[in-house]
Parts: sequence; structure tokens; C-alpha cells
Amino acid sequence: MNHALNRRDFVKTVTGMVAVTALSAVPEKCPAEQGATKKGKLMYTLPPLPYPKDALAPVISSETIDFHYGKHHQTYVDNLNKMVPGTEFDSLSVEQIVLKAPAGPVFNNAAQAWNHTFYWNGLTPKGGGEPTGALADGINKAFGTFAGFKEAFSKAAVSQFGSGWAWLVRKKDGSLAVVQTGNAGNPMTAGDTPLWTCDVWEHAYYIDYRNARAKYVDQFWGLVNWEFVSGNLPK
Ligand code: MN
Repeated sequence: MNHALNRRDFVKTVTGMVAVTALSAVPEKCPAEQGATKKGKLMYTLPPLPYPKDALAPVISSETIDFHYGKHHQTYVDNLNKMVPGTEFDSLSVEQIVLKAPAGPVFNNAAQAWNHTFYWNGLTPKGGGEPTGALADGINKAFGTFAGFKEAFSKAAVSQFGSGWAWLVRKKDGSLAVVQTGNAGNPMTAGDTPLWTCDVWEHAYYIDYRNARAKYVDQFWGLVNWEFVSGNLPK
């Protein structure tokens, strides 16, 4: 599997779906849900994980992957396939639906499908440590130090009330920021570019950490895929 997929590839594969004419033509390594025309029907597919399902243990167990990826993420994709055909969103990529759909079930399932693929790609069993280069510069400019960023992001993840997501984003002015979104929210709808995310829905951590969200967030730092995060910065 390609561990170096960045958001640019991610977007490219999503928007490239109109050229796909059969399910068999969907690239196996595609990191994002794809639409594909088969007998005239739009289909979105669950992208493969970029690592084996037990690779993130003990931070994220194989059992959590079975439920979180195999059931929750799969269900969002399945729901899109039930909801989208025959609507104004037919033939759109997942990302296009996220940007276009009003609040409601179609947005919720598209955004959750997008967010989860982004979440999985932001993690790697060889992750952790600190970033370098332009990403490190942006973090230091926005948060003072890497420790300052870590504190701000962890606080956003732990304090998000109820289900949602914590994000590192790039604002339109080029600065980096930490934001929270509730439920299926995605920063792209506010014009921000997502760089990394942490899922703080209970289904992300309850099997491994029960109610201890802060412990999950603390351990999560050991998995961050800085190559992916850096790759999401505009070149
Ligand atoms: Mn989730």
C-alpha cells in the first residue's frame, strides 16, 4: 500500500471518478470513496486501509478497526449508495457532495465517508514524533512550539462536546489553525483545508479506552503520519 498518499492524490482520485466506467476499473489503492458506473448505477466503495487492521495496536486495536472501519465507515458508504442515485448528487464525488449538500442525511453520510478516509490516511504504525520543513514552520508560527500545537489540538479533541472531530487546518490566509466540528462536520465547508484529524466519536475509542477520551487522544499522537499531513499543504 502507498503510505505517502496526500490530500492532492486523495482529491485527484475522487474527482477522477467520472472517467471510471466499471467497478473493476477502480484502482485498488484508491484512498477515497469512488463513484463508478456499472450498468448505469453510481457506486461508492469503501477504500482499503493503508495498513493491516492490526497495525495500529495497541493504540487502536484490531477489534476497533473491525467496528470503526468495517461497520461504521462501511455503513456511511452504503448509505450514500442508497441515498444518492436519482438525486441532484448523482455522479458527484464524495468531496463534491460534502461541499454541495445542505445539512441533512446526504451531507452527514458523505462527510462521514470523507472524514473517515482522511482519518485512516492520517495514521501510520510508523508514525509519531514531530514534523519537519514547511509544516513545522507553520505550526511554530501559529502555536509557538510543537508542544503548543499538541496542547491546542488535544484540548480541541478532548473538549469537543459529544460526537465530532478535531482538525489541523490551513486557513485561506495560509496560517494553520486547530478547529473542532460537531457530528459529521468538515472544515472544507468553511473554506479551510484539512491537514489532519482526530475522530472523537465514542465509536473511535470506546472498545479500547471505554470513556477515557483523553487517554485515547494522548496515545493517538504516536500514530500521526506527518508525511500525509505535510502532503496536504499546497505546494
Ligand atoms: Mn468514526
